[in-house]
Amino acid sequence: MASYDVIVIGSGPGGYVCAIRCAQLGLKTACVEGRETLGGTCLNVGCIPSKAMLHATEMLEEAHVNFEKMGLMGEKPKVDWERMLAYKQNTIDTNTKGIEFLFKKNKIDWLKGWGSIPEAGKVKVGDEVHEAKHIVIASGSDSSSLPGVEVDEDKVVSSTGALELKEPPNSMIVIGGGVIGLELGSVYRRLGTQITVVEYMDHILPGMDAEVQKTFQRMLKKEGVTFVMGAAVQKVEASDGGSTVTWKAKKDDKEGSAEADIVLVSTGRRPFTDGLGLDALGVEMTDRGQVKTDGHWKTSVDGVYAIGDCIAGPMLAHKAEDEGMAVAETIAGQAGHVNYDVIPGVIYTHPEVASVGKTEQQLKDDGRAFKVGKFSFMGNGRAKANFMGDGFVKILADKETDRILGAHIIGPMAGDLIHEICVAMEFGAAAEDLARTCHAHPTYSEAVREAALACGDGAIHS
Ligand SMILES: Cc1cc2nc3c(=O)[nH]c(=O)nc-3n(C[C@H](O)[C@H](O)[C@H](O)COP(=O)(O)OP(=O)(O)OC[C@H]3O[C@@H](n4cnc5c(N)ncnc54)[C@H](O)[C@@H]3O)c2cc1C
Repeated sequence: MASYDVIVIGSGPGGYVCAIRCAQLGLKTACVEGRETLGGTCLNVGCIPSKAMLHATEMLEEAHVNFEKMGLMGEKPKVDWERMLAYKQNTIDTNTKGIEFLFKKNKIDWLKGWGSIPEAGKVKVGDEVHEAKHIVIASGSDSSSLPGVEVDEDKVVSSTGALELKEPPNSMIVIGGGVIGLELGSVYRRLGTQITVVEYMDHILPGMDAEVQKTFQRMLKKEGVTFVMGAAVQKVEASDGGSTVTWKAKKDDKEGSAEADIVLVSTGRRPFTDGLGLDALGVEMTDRGQVKTDGHWKTSVDGVYAIGDCIAGPMLAHKAEDEGMAVAETIAGQAGHVNYDVIPGVIYTHPEVASVGKTEQQLKDDGRAFKVGKFSFMGNGRAKANFMGDGFVKILADKETDRILGAHIIGPMAGDLIHEICVAMEFGAAAEDLARTCHAHPTYSEAVREAALACGDGAIHS
């Protein structure tokens, strides 16, 4: 029986980051992982493979749509599906191997197998029981489906199956207009698949700024995506030819249906805690199946902590990572902290969508007086040169103090641009602080400065 200061269960971005930080802080650390490779959902079937496919297909579209406009002539590239999947797999492999390297470098033991917690202070992996002063549950999440919808990962697929299709289908119905469905839908739309999104709400991207929701949906429609909104899916029937999705319209109960080669069910994810033995251990859970934690990621059982997708909060890799570092610091006696008010959210389509902080609706609901500084990418020279003039940067600032309360971007590199605003928010900056910071020309980030200027005396290029 080996004895550790900390055993982390799960090696996703929450777990592996936590293990590395524990080791850096001088704690003897092991990480349990049941998969064949480290890195969790994120590296194996989530963020990384989906971004590889988004990148490859974005290059394809760029070549088809914009190359000739720039005088780049020649035969248009065709898709070799096997090689595209091999590129994706190679990206996964180099990343998962990278975590293995970091574990070795930091002298973290990888305990291979599925772990459970028979009692506080003990972790069982296979037949072996290991001792740990502190246990961190970072067991992540799994795709969830709808009642009456059976995912067979062949014709009716989750995001995992969608990353492994035998070939790009002619048609695909995406159930759920959230981030994962729209990203994967975009991948296949660029490969020539006819995409229909069936969404229960009257808008896509639940929780995002309403103007971003509308603008993004308009852009996707322009690209050829069809939307069925306000539709509650009743059933999905797979047949030899394809699958039929049947829904009921929320407004009048009218039934509708559509058929496609592939149905992607992207209706969300559920916390994954199966097999850990949490019930017998007496760990309290929320009514949504998440591990209940306090402000320091402690569960109801002494010495047992939880982080990442299996606890409350946005299911995002960087949120899990931040919690991983913070809980390690807490265990080591430091003041681990996560600022949940400044966690950016990004959609890696083209253009990208990014947001942080409050939406206009949330500020209205809070009764907070605020001003809006908005700048269109049409006024940004770099964006226009690169055919990326669609979209905007919107900064929301307190009406009196000018403090930045939120930002919403739809446009080129939005996922990178948002971080300037995140740093500003962490420092409690006013929009004027951004507006008075010199930004290099010509960059997309000038649009952020212009939106900040628009919170004051006005943007220059609009
Ligand atoms: C298609 C897709 C795209 C995504 N894209 C993004 C994105 O672009 N950006 C972003 O921020 N987020 C994205 N996400 C979400 C992101 O992947 C998750 O938020 C993140 O992986 C959560 O990290 P985690 O460490 O909590 O858990 P996970 O990454 O789910 O890792 C948990 C690990 O624990 C292991 N495990 C569970 N139970 C046990 C056990 N009992 N014993 C041993 N091992 C166990 C599992 O095998 C798994 O490897 C995406 C998700 C999907 C599905």
